Amino acid sequence: MLECTGITKRFGGIVALGGVDFTVREGQIVGLVGPNGSGKTTLLSCIAGSLAVTSGSVTFAGSDITRSKPHTRAHAGISRTFQIPRPLNSFSVAENVAIAAMFGSEALSKPLAMERAATVLDRVGISKHQSSQVSALTLHERKFLEIARALALDPKLILLDEVLGGLNPSEAAEGMELISSLRSDGISVVYIEHNVKAVSALADYMYVLNRGQNLAEGTPQEVLSNGLVIEAYLGG
Ligand code: ADP
Repeated sequence: MLECTGITKRFGGIVALGGVDFTVREGQIVGLVGPNGSGKTTLLSCIAGSLAVTSGSVTFAGSDITRSKPHTRAHAGISRTFQIPRPLNSFSVAENVAIAAMFGSEALSKPLAMERAATVLDRVGISKHQSSQVSALTLHERKFLEIARALALDPKLILLDEVLGGLNPSEAAEGMELISSLRSDGISVVYIEHNVKAVSALADYMYVLNRGQNLAEGTPQEVLSNGLVIEAYLGG
């Protein structure tokens, strides 16, 4: 479904990604882990199109999207959340989701977008807050709002950036249940986490980055027992 080959991203003299390969098959939850600064968020941005790659290629559902704009990729079915949520504070929760839905489909009228927002907020379990201002939400609800905004685009592939960070164990468990239910709905998931153990409970397959390079990949079991991964985490 998604194939990234030889992705290199430089910021001036900094090589954030130095030729990374990354593949997602249909219906998979793929965990993307690595120490801080290893390039995870940069890779997500190269997939979503908010950053242009320096070299390498990104293919999605058989089309080369390496040079496509973010909204083109959103229309094709790729949507993302941000590690630091960026909701529009002067709009209600439902309006925030509706605005995201309209970004995903230019043809969507505001009433239809609000309908879509109601469905999606119900899907993630925060529909009782639909008329609230975003500023009234707890961290947990904001994280779920971020997932709702990404789902509003009706994605085939959703890119989640540390959506469970900072949540207490029961909130995180609820979040993990939500993420695995996305897979049951036929949505493929890329899930970034600093915490390897949290991802390994959910992922079908995992990639480990270290200093902008592929360090390891495989099933969670293979990755957790890989000496290089243990060393990168202890050393990092
Ligand atoms: P991670 O998500 O794994 O913590 P990042 O992708 O955020 O890692 O960062 C990878 C490297 O790229 C880091 O060295 C970071 O400082 C650098 N980097 C990321 N974004 C930028 C940017 N916009 N400008 C300059 N350097 C950046």
